[in-house]
Amino acid sequence: MIRKLLRKVFTRAATPLSTEPALIAVDQHGVRSEQLSPAARKTCAVLQESGYKAYVVGGAVRDLLIGHPPKDYDVATSATPEQVRALFRRSRIIGRRFKIVHVMSGPETIEVSTFRASQDAETDELGRVLHDNVFGSQAEDASRRDFTVNALYYDPVTETIVDYHHGVADIKQKTLRVIGDPRTRYREDPVRMLRAVRLGAKLGLSIDPAARTPIREMAVLLENVPAARLFDEMLKLLFSGYAVKCLTQLREEGLHHGLLPLLDVILEQPMGERFVWLSLENTDERIRQDKSVSPGFLFATLLWHEVLKTWDAKKAAGEPSQPALFEAMDEVIDAQAGKLAITRRIVGDIKDIWALQPRFDKRAGKTPYRLIEQPRYRAGWDFLRLRAQSGEVPMEIADWWDDFAHAGHDEREELLRAAPQTADAPAKKRRRKRRKPAGNGEVATADTSAE
Ligand code: ATP
Ligand code: MG
Repeated sequence: MIRKLLRKVFTRAATPLSTEPALIAVDQHGVRSEQLSPAARKTCAVLQESGYKAYVVGGAVRDLLIGHPPKDYDVATSATPEQVRALFRRSRIIGRRFKIVHVMSGPETIEVSTFRASQDAETDELGRVLHDNVFGSQAEDASRRDFTVNALYYDPVTETIVDYHHGVADIKQKTLRVIGDPRTRYREDPVRMLRAVRLGAKLGLSIDPAARTPIREMAVLLENVPAARLFDEMLKLLFSGYAVKCLTQLREEGLHHGLLPLLDVILEQPMGERFVWLSLENTDERIRQDKSVSPGFLFATLLWHEVLKTWDAKKAAGEPSQPALFEAMDEVIDAQAGKLAITRRIVGDIKDIWALQPRFDKRAGKTPYRLIEQPRYRAGWDFLRLRAQSGEVPMEIADWWDDFAHAGHDEREELLRAAPQTADAPAKKRRRKRRKPAGNGEVATADTSAE
């Protein structure tokens, strides 16, 4: 009996390509088509009316089953990208890693991809998949997906779920299971390890031991992943609304060390730890309340204590404060750039926020009036407040600026008179004549596009 059961379990793990899917009716899974976005329903209906297979697939089905509102919708179809393109006036073919079609409907964009196989996918010497744009059957499409819970196909017309890999059962059991052999699948695409941790944390699923065990030893493979892809994945993780949980889990899985310089910074800095976790909690909270968040702001917080450390060292070596700050900013950003392709615009935002910080020390004369007119003042002040909350600077400074920004003219003059002229402010040693900031000084006032 037990042997039979074991055989069943092992055969299932060893044969990723199951061609007989379970068809699960709405009375069993409970997801009604009204719960989907109108655009997702319509896209599937139009494709089906033209004789193609079309299903909502992946994250949206999974999230609906768990009771999370889906972030966006992916549709999988038997139609080729060109056939899809021909059916929707507002659509375009996107050719990044694979050829997919964006179908626009009202304010929504639905990503439509053709069923594809990865059976004969070309791999590099480490087993990493290089190209997998080979069209295939629906069963093949299911098998090349990463986790069983991500390989569910929902037909909005019949409200049936097509389930090739027992994904519905895994959701019920709150388990994240890799389709096929986890080691092989991680070798093909090491980002799946990060996805496992992120989705597990976000959805409250526990990673199946077979998928969890190899992560620690295989984490080094992430070094071969292109920086731009890692950056995308980091953004997803940091802006999942569960960053604190994800990062805690990453630390537990041993995925943080020596892997991404940013993760080392986040998880191992003794000085800025409180500041960073406060900032991550803050971001999680904002996302869960559907408020806007800016990558520049978050990255600025994550790296701030590195900047402080480098800046202090330079000042201790006798460099004047202002140029030392700009050099420190560049060095810290450069240290991240190799592995993490932070986009230029985000780098601009990060530097703006940092460059504003010493200016909060100057509470005299006309300077404060100019500072509150800065386009990035608000982000700079939010950052200052976090510094205060973490104990880096007195809360009194953040409160003072808040009062100043909201006061009328007379009250402002009064605030200026009452402001303590801190002797220990970083940019205080004013004996020398004001130096021109070294080359990149304009960053402080540069107009950055709003996020
Ligand atoms: P979310 O959008 O909430 O981050 P998701 O699962 O929808 O989660 P996407 O990146 O939008 O993530 O991917 C859509 C689907 O594509 C996934 O559900 C999965 O089926 C498949 N997929 C994504 N990334 C991979 C991967 N690295 N390997 C295999 N399949 C993947
Ligand atoms: Mg998705």
